[in-house]
Amino acid sequence: MNTEVKKKKIKRKAQVSKDYCVACGACTSECPIGAIKIVGGVFAQVDQDRCVGCSKCANICPASTIDMINMEEVK
Ligand code: SF4
Ligand code: SF4
Repeated sequence: MNTEVKKKKIKRKAQVSKDYCVACGACTSECPIGAIKIVGGVFAQVDQDRCVGCSKCANICPASTIDMINMEEVK
């Protein structure tokens, strides 16, 4: 019988609701790895392949328009 248990690791990633973003740039200054950029001067967008889920952008956003979302992966 296979008793191996697969562990699920939860990764958190930032996600911008662009409808409420005012393109202030606070999040881009705060991100320690430059994973969030202003697109076309209109809204912020997160490169989720690079985001390490530190929440700094979400904590500083004056419009509260960045959510930290859980992404599961099986390890
Ligand atoms: S959660 Fe952290 S790493 Fe991800 S975009 Fe925000 S500041 Fe950058
Ligand atoms: S801090 Fe918030 S409002 Fe400002 S650019 Fe980033 S997501 Fe948009």
